[in-house]
Amino acid sequence: MKWEGGRRGGGIEDRRGMRGGAVAGGGIGAAIIGLVLYFVFDIDPRTTQQVASQLGGLGQAGSQEGQVGSPEDDAGRFVEVIGTNINDVWAQKLEGYRPPVTVLYEQGTQTGCGYGQAAMGPFYCPADQKVYLDLGFWQDLQRLGGSGADFAKAYVIAHEYGHHVQRLIGATEQVQRAQQNARSQAEGNRYSVALELQADCFAGMWARNAGLVSNGEVTVTDSDLAEGMKTAAAIGDDALQGRGGGRVSPESFTHGSSQERMQWLQRGYQTGDPGSCDTFANL
Ligand SMILES: [Zn+2]
Repeated sequence: MKWEGGRRGGGIEDRRGMRGGAVAGGGIGAAIIGLVLYFVFDIDPRTTQQVASQLGGLGQAGSQEGQVGSPEDDAGRFVEVIGTNINDVWAQKLEGYRPPVTVLYEQGTQTGCGYGQAAMGPFYCPADQKVYLDLGFWQDLQRLGGSGADFAKAYVIAHEYGHHVQRLIGATEQVQRAQQNARSQAEGNRYSVALELQADCFAGMWARNAGLVSNGEVTVTDSDLAEGMKTAAAIGDDALQGRGGGRVSPESFTHGSSQERMQWLQRGYQTGDPGSCDTFANL
């Protein structure tokens, strides 16, 4: 994947090096580690609220918004270039698109959805319309069997931006309403899976269009996509549940199986059209 030299459009809030407050001690820490497998993408806001109240008074994180750091801040520049490119694609695909802010942080930080913990993986908060990334997650991704390639990281970023689009088009709200009316946990989880798979499809859609909106400054090739597929397989609910030592139980899936995640990522990539990402059609 090519990205060096890609346009940097800002929109990054850099909170790295600023501790978001006291970090959990033993008991809570252990509980959070247990959650990492299941919330490796996107935390459940209710969980964070809970964690926030458990942790009690937390320090206020300062922040700087705009372009990230020094020329040697490769990781920060990568996120900025990829985020800018994703915004450029969506600006063409969705009328009235407004970019999210992307927050880079370490360990933990305050969010509009409660206290965010790095251990829970990257997430999007619909309440403040910000994407939260702890760059240490890239190592976790590899530990879980995902790829260390640039595109694997970009896929994660594009997936979170996909949740932002869902917020803009009202899908997030519809799913929340449907979940409130669901007759069972399993039914509620099916909506959650559809939302997640759509975000994967949106990520594939972005990848297909990355080169077109950047005059080839940012490009994704078929072999890059293969790295994304490997990651999608590693973070399917069945793969994560298996790794957690638990029984694989499809009713408790909230993100979709490895097979489904790969399918929808590929579908978005093949069509390049967000209209092909109707994961809700068969619910
Ligand atoms: Zn997600």
